This record gives sequence, structure tokens and C-alpha cells, in this order.
Amino acid sequence: MTLLRPTLLALALAGATGYANAAVVIRGARVIDGTGAPPREDVTMVIDGDHISLMGPGLRAKMPAGTQVIDYTGKTIIPGLVSDHGHIGSVDGTKSGLPALYTRDNSLRQLRQWRAYGVTTVTSLGVNNPDVFYPLRADLHAGKADGADLFGADRGIGVPNGAPPAKMMQAGPSQLDRPTTAEEARADVDAAAARGTDLVKIWLDDFNGSLPVKMKPEIWHAVIDEAHAKHLRVAAHVYYLDDARQLVDAGVDILAHGVRDKLVDQGFIDAMKQHGTWYIATLDLNEAAFVYARHPGWMDQPFFQHAVQPDLARQFADGAWRDKVNNDGSTPVNEEALQVNLKNLKTLHDAGANIGFGTDAGAMPLRIPGFAEHRELALMVDAGLTPLQAIHIATQSAAQLLGLDDRGVLANGKRADFIVLDKDPSSNIEATTTIDAVWQRGRQVAGRVDAFKP
Ligand SMILES: [Zn+2]
Repeated sequence: MTLLRPTLLALALAGATGYANAAVVIRGARVIDGTGAPPREDVTMVIDGDHISLMGPGLRAKMPAGTQVIDYTGKTIIPGLVSDHGHIGSVDGTKSGLPALYTRDNSLRQLRQWRAYGVTTVTSLGVNNPDVFYPLRADLHAGKADGADLFGADRGIGVPNGAPPAKMMQAGPSQLDRPTTAEEARADVDAAAARGTDLVKIWLDDFNGSLPVKMKPEIWHAVIDEAHAKHLRVAAHVYYLDDARQLVDAGVDILAHGVRDKLVDQGFIDAMKQHGTWYIATLDLNEAAFVYARHPGWMDQPFFQHAVQPDLARQFADGAWRDKVNNDGSTPVNEEALQVNLKNLKTLHDAGANIGFGTDAGAMPLRIPGFAEHRELALMVDAGLTPLQAIHIATQSAAQLLGLDDRGVLANGKRADFIVLDKDPSSNIEATTTIDAVWQRGRQVAGRVDAFKP
């Protein structure tokens, strides 16, 4: 990195006129840039409109009149987190899966929560209502709506009488396709492509044997083939290793959940690497199914409480609900699934597979937007990754999964999306919860989460 010389800085500031924002100089902070590199001390960042125009080691030159200088000495800055797997418009309080919840206002409520927690880009990976989703995506891309920037996978392609389960996702035909033939599946992909989807989503699972059928191979083969013909990538909901293996061999682009029934084997690892398949573990999903009934200490912290809507907080405080979860037969299954998921993430990461970042937050009430992503980071470290590796996955890698090279790292020319932390997470990942401020597109959009109302 070159030293910032006063002349360079003056040029950067002089050029910062193309946007509504005046030039902003941020200085003094320790910066973790998202590439996996160690933190750098006393970094100066010049922000020009929505992006970083110059970044380098500290400088204490006199700034031109009109420059806003913000001193973050003692703070640590990391890139805004990028979620590759969440859902908008599916949850409100303890209600979920109803088509009526898929409104612009409810979606924006969640996207503002994600952003308040430092998740500045979110992928709604299926079950979207196109009439609401596409105008909202356009407004967020253009900075005309307040919330995390939005990408997504249109409605998604499920199975008649199969996944996603109708009792979990009471989504009507406006939010989900359930083709019965390969031809119908191709037509559904074509329609999503015509609407401008970012990705195509499929479900290959029987939800622990609770569903009578899984997606037929002729259907998912047709979806992958048609999506690739339209230059779209396919993300698959999976649970079982054998399903994941078949999909990877058939060229699926993204596994949207971790493999949770078995430890991955060398053949699977080799296939993932050979195809360059992305892997999103969603560790928090399995933990969220049981952990709130046990009331861990972090549930008493403001960082958690400000992410929980009142109806959900009442549920967490209800002894009968907690007893029911603690005694439910699915709880040991989810605990075991989490352990397998942790091990598989570590194995695939160490083998050099492409790892993305997501939690499935927003799909169900217990998957809490914003909080889930920080819990996911902590679980990645429990899995054996270093904090810097976890942050790299949640920023640069997650952006790469989406094909975005304008974000995910803090460097010249990149979007000025970042989180200002009180503490340094490079040695203790829980420091990502010490949010002082969130910046998006070159302006501060949130302060401490204590000020956020869910
Ligand atoms: Zn999902």
C-alpha cells in the first residue's frame, strides 16, 4: 500500500464533487479490509460520494475547507457484511410463511434491521413475490429506499406436495413454482430470467422424511440446464450428502445450506473444488431451532434484544414454549445436524472450497435478521476458522458468490459500505457485536443497535 501523500489526498478531495455528499475523510481507525489480510492501524479513507476514492496509512494533513473529517481513533472498521442466503417478506413477529406478509413495508422493515446490524447486502434466496421484489430491488440498488441492498432468486422452484413444505411456506403461486414436468420447469426458469432474477433457487430435500416426495432428477437437471442456457446460476436447498453430491456433479452452482446428515468425503470435496461450487453452511439455522429455549447469556444483551420483535420476545419468555422446544424430538436432531455442519464447514474450508455466507434469516421467526449473521460468524469460529477467515467469508467471499466486485472489501474504488466497531474482532469474533456505526454508500445510516427498534 502506498503512503498517502498530501498531494494525492488533495487531488482525491478536489475530485470528490460528482455526488450529493461532500468529501468525507475518515481517519484513525484500525481497518480489516475483508481480503483476509491482518488489520492495519491508523488508516485514512477518503469517501467520494458512494465509494472509497483513496485509502492508505494515516495522515494528518490540513484538509480543504468543506471536508468532513471523522476521527475513529480506537475503533475498528470492517466491510459491511454480505448475506448470500436470507429471505424477505416471510416473517413478522411470530407469524411466518403467509403471502400477505410479502409487502414492501414488511420487507423494508427487515432490510433496515439487517442494515442496522451491519449487513449491508442481502440475498432473498427464493419465495419472492415478483410484483413486490423487483421494484424494491431497483429502488435499493438506486439508493431510493432505506435498507440493505437487495438481490434475489425470484419465486423459486419447488415440488408439488414436497419442498418447501406447504405448512412452513404457505406461499401461493405468486411466490413459488412447483412444476410437474421438465418442460414446465424450463418455462419457470425462462419466466424468472425474463423478470431479471439474479439466481435460480431449487429445493432438494424431504425435511427429515416428513415429505412424501423429493424433486425428481429430470426436473432439477432441466432447471440447471435451462438456467445455464440463460446465464443464470442455480442455488440449491440441500440437507443430505447424497443429494448434494448429485447436484454438484450435475453442475449446480451454489449449495445454499451445509451438508448435515454425514461428514463429507474426499470424492465430494474433490467434486466441489473441480466444479468451483459455492457452499453456504447456514450454521445458525440449526442452532436457532433450539438455542433460544435454553436462554444463553447473550439473550440478555441489548445486541440480541434490539433484534427481537415484541411477539417473539414474549415467546422466548414463555416457560411452556421453552419446555416444548427442550423436549421436542427435533431438538437432538438439530443439535447433531449443527455438529455435522460445523465439521463439514471446517473440512471444506481447509480443502479450499468456495465458501459463501448466509443464515436463512427471515425464512422463519427464529432466524433473526442481523443477529443471525453475527451468530453465524461466532459459530464459524467455533467450527475452527479464525476470526479473520470468518470475516473474509462474510465479506469478500460472499460478494464473490454474488458476482459482485464493487463491495465486500475496503479498497480504492469500492463501495463505502462498512461497520465501525468499538472492539477489534481479529482476536475475538464477538467484537463484531460492538457496533458503533454502520455506513452504506458513503454515509452513516445507523448508530449503535441500542437505538434500533425491531
Ligand atoms: Zn432459505
